Amino acid sequence: MATRGKLLIIGFGPGSFEQITERARTAIQESDVIIGYNTYVDLIRGLLTDQEIVRTGMTEEVSRAIEAVRQAESGKKVAVISSGDAGVYGMAGLVYEVLIEQGWTEATGVEVEVIPGISAINSCASLLGAPVMHDACTISLSDHLTPWEVIAKRVEAAGMGDFIVALYNPRSGRRTRQIVETQRILLKYRSADTPVGLVKSAYRASQQVVLTTLGEMLEHEIGMLTTVIIGNRSTKVYDGKMITPRGYQRKYTLDRAEQPIKMNERLREEHEPWALHGGVSAGRGEKTKRAGSVEEDASRSLGVALAEGANPSVGVALEARANSFGGVAVVEDATEVVNAAAAPARSSADLAMEAVSLLVNRGVLETSVVAREAQVQGDLFSQPLILEIAVSPGVGNKKLTPAQMAVLLDVVGEDGEFEYTPHHYVILRVPTREPELISEALTAAGMIVQPLGDVVQIKACDFCNLEKTESLPQAEELLRRFGGLSVPKELKIGFAGCGMACYGSVNEDIAMVYRRGKFDLFLGGKAIGRNAHPAQRVAEGLEPEQLLAAVEEILAAYKGKGHPDERFHKFFKRVGDVAGFHHEDYQAPLVIESICGD
Ligand code: SAH
Repeated sequence: MATRGKLLIIGFGPGSFEQITERARTAIQESDVIIGYNTYVDLIRGLLTDQEIVRTGMTEEVSRAIEAVRQAESGKKVAVISSGDAGVYGMAGLVYEVLIEQGWTEATGVEVEVIPGISAINSCASLLGAPVMHDACTISLSDHLTPWEVIAKRVEAAGMGDFIVALYNPRSGRRTRQIVETQRILLKYRSADTPVGLVKSAYRASQQVVLTTLGEMLEHEIGMLTTVIIGNRSTKVYDGKMITPRGYQRKYTLDRAEQPIKMNERLREEHEPWALHGGVSAGRGEKTKRAGSVEEDASRSLGVALAEGANPSVGVALEARANSFGGVAVVEDATEVVNAAAAPARSSADLAMEAVSLLVNRGVLETSVVAREAQVQGDLFSQPLILEIAVSPGVGNKKLTPAQMAVLLDVVGEDGEFEYTPHHYVILRVPTREPELISEALTAAGMIVQPLGDVVQIKACDFCNLEKTESLPQAEELLRRFGGLSVPKELKIGFAGCGMACYGSVNEDIAMVYRRGKFDLFLGGKAIGRNAHPAQRVAEGLEPEQLLAAVEEILAAYKGKGHPDERFHKFFKRVGDVAGFHHEDYQAPLVIESICGD
């Protein structure tokens, strides 16, 4: 009985010897016949011994498959070779189709082994950096066997789903429009500056790697030997490398465009507000539904604003807000809102939106930030960022005006959070697609907006309701120069407008007390904890200019020499001398023995 033949369907990788797997090598060596496209046979020439070679042209794939099956059935071991992986736009499927046509089954027919190889998506990605870190797809732009409408639909779906896309067969001499059309479709979903890598002949002698963008990719050479890798909305370029993060970022503050979540915090639920967490999925679903209704309300509210002929530009609206707020008008509005609150079965979202649209109708707000948000094309992947900021009505001012409260209501919307703190500011956490717009809105309403985190914050007293405002310009100057400056650990500067220092400023990291035109300076307080202690008085009678210069020098030293996460009081103690000021150990107050004795 003749030996049973075998089909070895082999992917030999991108084209260099080192990238061929061990099994692919031995399979090539153990076969009697090699069947493959001319160029591929040349690429593996170094592995060949005395195998019979059946070379064919590119377009003769079907005849290659038929020939392979015929030879295997005659009892030979036949290697069918494909570049990359034979199962990815390669010969594997085709060989199976020929076999199936002939009634082949595994039990009765020739033996078949498919040997995996490194496909172009992987080899090309490796040369670009790490672009395929997240959900990706491959799309072949060859409409030789697939109707273009189907391909276009897949490109559309990939765009919609924010998949990283690897385009195989992107362009040939004859097929040139497909890549142009693909670019057009993807630009509906991704910005023109989305990173794109063009890799030609990866791991071959003529290898070329080009890093470009979705907008400009057609200005470069793209041919039959190129794989085009298009990043998703998060893909970045760093030092010539294209890198896609493993997930999506949502936290946003003001000092950096995107605040990376620390590695050890990534898995916390609060950083994954979108996840389907066990047990709460129903609640989440509900939340999503509510969010939807807010968007509807918001667009309704925008509709009102537009119907009234309001200018949808928030910048303009806020300026108008700043000078047209009348306390009385707002109080009236507030009454209507309170009355509305008495009606049952209305969500806080409805009330908030109603309040906003009342203000819009009365011309107090020309349109709302929330409504403007709804205008931004909202698909799944332009997930709102969560803007987290500290807001206060002023350096020396602790009173919010009704106008400012209305602006806060407007920006916080239904899904935002307003947290009262003991630090003379509130923390806003607002889901938004346009964080700049929100901080502009708050600033235009005369509020102070500062980043949170490891930055410098200025805390001042209320200058006796701004009657003792003599030193206010210095507090404002401190804020202007140093507010939001990033430092090793969050640092508070306490500012007291008179010798009473009644707001507790001398317990802060750095403190200053204004007395008769001059300042006393204090360093290294620890406002909280069991071993809390006031700051050490290091200078008295500094002129305003001296004070600012000293603070500048102190902060520069801390920024430059402080360890990451080292609090200022610890830093001062460790280095012993900051900007010429010497640290002295804090003396605990004497314990007075009880007169009554034991
Ligand atoms: N089976 C192969 C794909 C064959 S389709 C695989 O798994 O990689 C042919 C397409 O693959 C080419 O048009 C090109 O887009 C891509 N390709 C294959 N080898 C490549 C290489 N070395 N460098 C870049 N692209 C390659």
